[in-house]
Amino acid sequence: MTGWEMVVGLEVHVQLKTRTKMFCGCENRFGAPPNSLVCPVCAGMPGSLPTVNRKAVELGMMTGIALGCRIASRTMFDRKNYFYPDLPKGYQISQFDRPLASGGSFRFPFGGGSMEASITRAHLEEDSGKNVHDASTDGSFVDLNRAGVPLIEIVTGPVFRSAREVSAYLAALKQLLQYIGASDCNMERGSLRCEPNVSVRKAGSTSLGTKTEIKNINSFKSVEKALEYEFRRQTEALESGGRILQQTMLWDDVAGSTAPMRSKEEAHDYRYFPEPDIPPLEIAADWVERVRASMPELPDARKRRFVESFGLREYDAAVLTASRDFSSLFEECARLWPNRRRLCSLFITDLLSILADEKIEVCDSRLSAQSVASLLRMEEEGAVGKNQVREILAELAKAGGDPPAIAASRGMVQLRDEDEIGALVTKAIAESPESVADFRAGRGKRAIGFLMGNVVRAMNGKGDPKIIRRLLVEKLENQSRS
Ligand code: ZN
Ligand code: MN
Repeated sequence: MTGWEMVVGLEVHVQLKTRTKMFCGCENRFGAPPNSLVCPVCAGMPGSLPTVNRKAVELGMMTGIALGCRIASRTMFDRKNYFYPDLPKGYQISQFDRPLASGGSFRFPFGGGSMEASITRAHLEEDSGKNVHDASTDGSFVDLNRAGVPLIEIVTGPVFRSAREVSAYLAALKQLLQYIGASDCNMERGSLRCEPNVSVRKAGSTSLGTKTEIKNINSFKSVEKALEYEFRRQTEALESGGRILQQTMLWDDVAGSTAPMRSKEEAHDYRYFPEPDIPPLEIAADWVERVRASMPELPDARKRRFVESFGLREYDAAVLTASRDFSSLFEECARLWPNRRRLCSLFITDLLSILADEKIEVCDSRLSAQSVASLLRMEEEGAVGKNQVREILAELAKAGGDPPAIAASRGMVQLRDEDEIGALVTKAIAESPESVADFRAGRGKRAIGFLMGNVVRAMNGKGDPKIIRRLLVEKLENQSRS
């Protein structure tokens, strides 16, 4: 497909992490029994009245501010009318021509450098319910627990030219929203959903081709696959003389392909009109300032601070600050443990892979800064070796506990009794006169390596290697002198 260029814009829907729903007091929670978090408002009963969730508006403001948007001084809600079984009111309360935030731009890391995406708008709306198609029963069901959950929809311009750019943007957006506490952005659970619109054009062209929108992308992994597929489908169609219809395409993850779902609707198909039950929302400048002042440290700032105050390399700081919880744990540990370099390698080399292998989120792990510091103290004192540090760390992440107690219960505490080690060292030397000869002949490295191996084996790996080495050198030097 040479000579063609992909042009992608993104709509991302993100569930906001509020305690209650967007327009009623029902709990906003994933995984509850079907239809257990429902009231007349979110079930769309006639006559029930919505009330705007202040926390959702503030999280929306934070999102807008973090994306460099203008926050509207007056914002409005509108009804977006359509029929679907998971939408009991027959309309979704959304925002049409007066969104909460607009005109931003977001710089994110890409390919060793960075790239900027223009943010057209970010507006508030409510989620729909969910249709449940259960093969074990006859028919389909509607679960309204999700109906009315607050969403922010973040829309970019057609700024992406490759699937990799889109992935990088999504990863950075997810990181940002997690940092400000706006959402957990779990794509598998549907708290972040992205709908790319895709068109293709001849490289060098500045006009835009007809676009399609892809729905039903359920994981970060699928985003690139869906875009690559749609890019190929469109260029093949155009090269063989066909044309692209403006359509909504459905991504099929199993088949790895898209298929037309419906012809793309235009804004006027939805008959948007102002929501009569919610007055326009005036946002005073000092409210915006209060929210701005309450914003937590953003990923980029934290990364720079890690480089400057902990003396870390840029790359290490980026890995450590990839998630807020991970970097916060590192920071707590750094307060207790001054050797930042060792701490950094423990986090990046050991902890990251342990969490990935065990499928544990940092926030669910049982690690504490105290236990990590206590573990590193044991290592520094020579009580445990590197492999044992990793083993204990894994246990701490899974079940918590006290590092010395874990080491003792696993029989991994190193023997550090110098008399005991000394006796074994003397024995090893006596059994290997050729090593003594090596040592005398200036081949000390070889002699010590050979003897170390013998002593370590004699102690079943439980002797402190630092002490073994020191005693070996002392005794060999004494022998050479005599
Ligand atoms: Zn409700
Ligand atoms: Mn939407």
